Amino acid sequence: TVTTEVNEHSPEKLLTPVLSSFWDAEDAWTLDAYHRHEGYEGLRKALQMPPDDVIAYVKDSGLRGRGGAGFPTGMKWQFIPQGDGKPHYLVVNADESEPGTCKDIPLLFANPHSLVEGIVIACHAIRSNHAFIYLRGEAVPVLRRLHEAVREAYAAGYLGKNILGSGLDLELTVHAGAGAYICGEETALLDSLEGRRGQPRLRPPFPAVEGLYACPTVVNNVESIASVPAIMNKGKEWFRSMGSEKSPGFTLYSLSGHVARPGQYEAPLGITLRQLLDMSGGMRPGHRLKFWTPGGSSTPMLTDEHLDVPLDYEGVGGAGSMLGTKALQCFDETTCVVRAVTRWTEFYAHESCGKCTPCREGTYWLVQLLRDIEAGKGEMADLDKVADIADNINGKSFCALGDGAAAPIASSFKHFRAEYEQHITGKGCPFDPRKSTLWS
Ligand code: NAD
Ligand code: SF4
Repeated sequence: TVTTEVNEHSPEKLLTPVLSSFWDAEDAWTLDAYHRHEGYEGLRKALQMPPDDVIAYVKDSGLRGRGGAGFPTGMKWQFIPQGDGKPHYLVVNADESEPGTCKDIPLLFANPHSLVEGIVIACHAIRSNHAFIYLRGEAVPVLRRLHEAVREAYAAGYLGKNILGSGLDLELTVHAGAGAYICGEETALLDSLEGRRGQPRLRPPFPAVEGLYACPTVVNNVESIASVPAIMNKGKEWFRSMGSEKSPGFTLYSLSGHVARPGQYEAPLGITLRQLLDMSGGMRPGHRLKFWTPGGSSTPMLTDEHLDVPLDYEGVGGAGSMLGTKALQCFDETTCVVRAVTRWTEFYAHESCGKCTPCREGTYWLVQLLRDIEAGKGEMADLDKVADIADNINGKSFCALGDGAAAPIASSFKHFRAEYEQHITGKGCPFDPRKSTLWS
């Protein structure tokens, strides 16, 4: 749920609801509701502008990719060659699967037309006549709402031939994946969309040069594209008035874990976890923050020393992590860090596509070692083995999944190595209710 009730004294005054501004409305996902909230006004403005001007406008707004990497959206659009005689494609990555990340799926469920409108604007800009939405397959209710939104948009003349009399023709295809985390990696997604087994391709060439069916393709995250209509409608200066200079604008943070009021919070980039916790009622009563992830488990974990780090692409990097998907998973002092890291590593081992040896073999052996340590059957030498394997995955794997698997290990060793040692010397988990004094 989104917290939207704000008064001048409440911490929620920092909220900037745009994408989530009418999520609470009973008919929020319908075209009628979207029209009541200035829906498709941004498109009308964009269609009055030449495509290159739209690209320049989005570039000037400073919008950065919300899928995790923060690549400038306008710059990505600019990479698409013009006059090359090839079809151009827009592919929206809606395969949201990063542990803890829950912003695109709720956005699509509550406000699918913001994405459809953004798609039409982006396709006008990059001169594309066919766009695809690749949705995480498990999200069946979202798939239904997307299909309905696309049907409504065709019926209203926002998709199809000669959109709003502009001469732009655009087909939009919604495709549901089959539940593999790796298909969220942009090139594996393209392989999957083409009907092949989803495995990452070598980059370069980047999709902007050789993407879907070997044609120039923009792959953008849902939230990135859904943010474009508001930028076109309210202006790039308005967008830049929020956030920091290098990371402007509003964004959706997903708070989960041991917080009093978990959920999606839409606020400017650059605010801090402390401010977000103020809005979400803090940690659950009687408990304190132990560790957290800024953007899902693939981003190095931080601790309560980092409560005031600005959540932007520079600030979190400065603290030795990454902003990633803005999935803030917060764990309190009752959480065993070894158990949490073991669980994440099991996820990466299960989802490894098997293409490259460091990730395929490394994640398997990490799980074996971590399970032993967690169960009190480890030896001190195992800690060096774990660190060594993680080091041999990080930066040496074919795609970002390998780096993501190494991140929680390296960061937990940095902040909580003593807790790993405690499992070995104490021959078991100090957080196990059968052994721990924490629970007595
Ligand atoms: P990346 O930095 O390699 O690339 C980001 C984007 O910029 C890509 O679209 C890429 O094609 C483009 N790009 C980069 N350099 C380019 C160039 N020279 N020319 C043209 N285009 C260029 O990051 P990535 O590997 O695509 O993604 C990693 C991120 O994904 C991580 O930061 C992680 O947070 C995020 N992630 C998100 C989820 C999720 O569920 N949303 C899941 C896993 C990982
Ligand atoms: Fe596949 Fe892992 Fe290698 Fe990526 S890093 S290509 S997921 S085996």
